[in-house]
Amino acid sequence: MVRLTFYGGINEIGGNKILLEDYGHALLLDFGFPYKRHKEFYEEYLKPRSGAGLLDPLMMGLLPPLEGLYRDDLVTPSLWQQFRDTPIYRELDQVDGVLLSHAHLDHSGYISFLKNDIPIYTTVATAFIAKAMQDSGKSDFDQQVCYFSPTTREYPTGWKQIAYLTGNTAKEQWQFCVADVKPEDLSPEAIQFWHQGFWEKTARQKELISHPLGSHSQCSFNLRCFPVDHSIPGACAWGVETSSGWLIYSGDLRLHGKRAELTKRFIEQAGCLRPKILILEGTNVLRETNVAEHEVYENGLKAVANSNGLVMADFSPRDVDRLLTFRQVARDTGRKLAVLPKDAYLLKTMRLLEPEIPDIAQDDNLVIYQDTIASKYPSLWLRNICQEYSDKIVLAEDVSSAQDQFILCFSFFDLNELPSIRPKAGSVYVYSSSEPYNEEQEIDFRRLHQWLEHFNLRGVGLPVESNGQWQIPDGEKGLHASGHACGLDLLDIARQISPEVLIPVHSEEPDFYIEHLNHSGINVILPSLGKTIEV
Ligand SMILES: [Zn+2]
Repeated sequence: MVRLTFYGGINEIGGNKILLEDYGHALLLDFGFPYKRHKEFYEEYLKPRSGAGLLDPLMMGLLPPLEGLYRDDLVTPSLWQQFRDTPIYRELDQVDGVLLSHAHLDHSGYISFLKNDIPIYTTVATAFIAKAMQDSGKSDFDQQVCYFSPTTREYPTGWKQIAYLTGNTAKEQWQFCVADVKPEDLSPEAIQFWHQGFWEKTARQKELISHPLGSHSQCSFNLRCFPVDHSIPGACAWGVETSSGWLIYSGDLRLHGKRAELTKRFIEQAGCLRPKILILEGTNVLRETNVAEHEVYENGLKAVANSNGLVMADFSPRDVDRLLTFRQVARDTGRKLAVLPKDAYLLKTMRLLEPEIPDIAQDDNLVIYQDTIASKYPSLWLRNICQEYSDKIVLAEDVSSAQDQFILCFSFFDLNELPSIRPKAGSVYVYSSSEPYNEEQEIDFRRLHQWLEHFNLRGVGLPVESNGQWQIPDGEKGLHASGHACGLDLLDIARQISPEVLIPVHSEEPDFYIEHLNHSGINVILPSLGKTIEV
């Protein structure tokens, strides 16, 4: 009998953390950052204390109390005594690995707390994106997915309390086991990227190792890794052979993106396994249709062609397909797409794995926008990018003096550059991302509207508020293709894979599956937080 316990992703979009147990062996299916619950307690200036290690996330119910699963350096004195009486507390010290579906933090973020001898099974693209995101971002201690500096305790003289110091020790890394390539088949540049930043002799770096899927694996489970299409490269679904039959975990997926073929192949192959259990995402169950990426191109083209000033395009920088869509729009409107250095870093990283990704140095349509206020001590990755592409760098003045020549890849958090750029009348802000789905995002949207008004910019595809509802005005829709399949597609996926049991996750409307699959022969079981389902 297989036991599935759900510690996240319940009535919530993201935060997936599923424990699979079968005859004394265990696996985790994703271990994501719980954005929804995190935002209930925290904001930019109120965050869990890094020096308090596991205490804050455990006490606030962000992390399940599973003693033995987490990094020892984050265990503060008498920590576990405080949790041994809580209902979902248990000891868990034997986990074969994490099956990581993709590099969005709502699936990967809390790997940061796990013991780093637990292998992370994933695709090479996901491993590389996790590293690139951490190298180029300001990731907090609870979002460091690839490497970390262990916390140390010191006893300063004259002080009564202990100081917990983070970030000043030699780096350590999680063991990434990639399912889709052999590391020896990667280029020397790709291997070098994986090692970059670990120059200290004392760093305990782990080589990327390949995972021989199947019976020869070091993992006690027979695994299958299925690449799928999502709004980030490298996404995959997983198959696990259990004593009850095959279990399929979808991760996040869609059928309307540029790589839809991958998802179709997954559905076919997963169906052939005649699975007992399908754990399926349900982000967009209530949506009836999808916007395809080529529609984003067509609508983007219209919006940009109608502007004779500066164009800003706001989309997730991890969505490489979207970046390439706007590169195409830039080319077809005689502009250059100006990406931020961190986007350039990600693009360069992806090119190590997919040679068809454009080379910024050779591509006439791509330049790099460098922030006006530079740091005196830029980090290694930034120095490398700015040196390697030095003749591709544009500054605020370059953009300001030729505004109709550029599309800037800006999001809300880059608006601070506008006083240096001074966009002229007729400039446009194209919003190509998801609508606000919580209060904090609504506040950001109100601010974004203020910025646009202040600089006299026209928003296109930007949700506006009316009667408490945020909606994109008619005639401006179709500028964002979601990373998630719509309801009808999800039902199709469920019917074609045809499991005995379907368990919805990553959804605020899991009842949708019960309503629609009632007489289909598929038994839908709704999970609840911290509870175990036995199949
Ligand atoms: Zn995702």
